[in-house]
Amino acid sequence: MSDPIVVLGAGPAGLTAAYLLARRGAPVVVLEADEVVGGIARTEVRDGYRFDLGGHRFFTKSAEVGRLWDEVLGEEMLLRPRRSRIRWNGRFLDYPLRPADVARKLGPVELTRAVASYLAAQARPRGREETFEQWVCNRFGRRLFELFFRAYTEKVWGVPCAEIRAEWAAQRIRGLSLATAARHALLGERGGQVKSLIGEFRYPRLGPGQMWEAMAAAVAAAGGEVRLGARVDRLRLAGGGVAAVRAGGEEIACAAVVSSLPVGTVARAARPAPGPEVLAAARGLRHRDFLTVALVLDGPPPFPDTWIYIHDPQVRVGRIQNFLAWSPWMVPEPGRSCVGLEYFCFRGDELWSMGDEDLVDLAAGELGRLGLGDPRRVAAGHVVRVPRAYPIYDAGYAERLATLRGWLDTVPNLVQVGRNGLHRYNNSDHSMLTAMRAVENLLDGAAHDVWAVNADSAYHEEGGREEPPYRDAPAAALAEA
Ligand SMILES: Cc1cc2nc3c(=O)[nH]c(=O)nc-3n(C[C@H](O)[C@H](O)[C@H](O)COP(=O)(O)OP(=O)(O)OC[C@H]3O[C@@H](n4cnc5c(N)ncnc54)[C@H](O)[C@@H]3O)c2cc1C
Repeated sequence: MSDPIVVLGAGPAGLTAAYLLARRGAPVVVLEADEVVGGIARTEVRDGYRFDLGGHRFFTKSAEVGRLWDEVLGEEMLLRPRRSRIRWNGRFLDYPLRPADVARKLGPVELTRAVASYLAAQARPRGREETFEQWVCNRFGRRLFELFFRAYTEKVWGVPCAEIRAEWAAQRIRGLSLATAARHALLGERGGQVKSLIGEFRYPRLGPGQMWEAMAAAVAAAGGEVRLGARVDRLRLAGGGVAAVRAGGEEIACAAVVSSLPVGTVARAARPAPGPEVLAAARGLRHRDFLTVALVLDGPPPFPDTWIYIHDPQVRVGRIQNFLAWSPWMVPEPGRSCVGLEYFCFRGDELWSMGDEDLVDLAAGELGRLGLGDPRRVAAGHVVRVPRAYPIYDAGYAERLATLRGWLDTVPNLVQVGRNGLHRYNNSDHSMLTAMRAVENLLDGAAHDVWAVNADSAYHEEGGREEPPYRDAPAAALAEA
């Protein structure tokens, strides 16, 4: 092979592909738009303080992913206890929920109301179940819906629960942490352990970015190249495949491309351009965005948890991380701590467009209002905006994806991998697995269907299509980078 395999994006998926390719002696060039590696799973470093964009637990059911983590970081991988709570209605509930704790915090009046509303829903379920709200009310009662489901779900997705599809609830609530936990708390434990209730997790000593930095270094040591600040803006197609990729004004000839770029971005960068229906599908795939405000605090962490879910609708923050609890090495100065406030938003909306200082003020003020830290303890604040944090599954996304896949089938040496690469709402381990299968296809002539890879089992079961939470994604989600 004379021309290299070009990998687009240096997040978990891209770097896993590059690492495996380089380890097997294949010439590889990674093109990354950012100045750091790790993508959404990177670790930011500001004044020596390290923080994730949203706390990144390392857990996987895949033995081969676990082995790769060990191979890359060895003893640098810590095993951390999880401690998390829900801040709800001015109180803290243990999370995973414990029935006695919930009963005590709800109080006898609220508990009686919740049970009565649950029994009423069981006795008289409503016929129509088109929305998330109807689905949850039918199974848990309106009171529990109002108490535990509405506020957080609306913060995450940015639309009223009455606009979220019932099918999404049906699919996610079986595994969704809060909902399952709420049901367990009230009705007793039935069935197995839920993914997000896992009591401990692995975590690189210096944050998740350490994993991807080590992989990038290994790629370079094996003779590959990781080019930062190299935004890909063209894929030149010729002879039935990608002939070259352009980044930073330079064209790089390639034998094949492993791409973790959003699948729509790739279609729009291709020349000759795909047909209008493919471009329309590319434009139509949408994302929910996200931002983190990291606050450096004088004094010890204001709470012991690794993170706290914030249900209270009076504040906009959705989750708060305590980075010292993730790893003691995240905070460089003794006598200080660092918390990360996570806000779900759309690019261009009011939150996203606020100035950094205003966001730091907002976060400090909300920390104070929640009783989770005195704003006067804030020594510094850092803002990181994360475009395309969550692929949106709206009513039309599956059809759009099918159209894009139809086009990708005509470009056999271009393989999409990863989260936005496949428009799949999934974790790093899944992103890595798709890259592993893609490399086997390229080097071993294997015929894995990368789109069918699933982190829970090797492949999706037949008919296991993921359901969309949105009926129609809000127009704001159309904003382009
Ligand atoms: C808030 C939050 C919390 C999460 N928590 C966890 C967790 O606890 N555990 C877990 O396992 N996973 C977690 N995830 C998911 C995890 O972040 C993703 O699964 C993972 O980062 C996806 O890896 P990827 O390589 O596919 O994509 P990305 O991480 O998105 O990487 C893609 C890379 O491509 C680059 N790129 C984009 N466009 C271009 C271009 N035109 N040219 C060149 N480069 C480009 C980007 O800069 C980026 O570096 C979380 C995600 C979020 C949003």
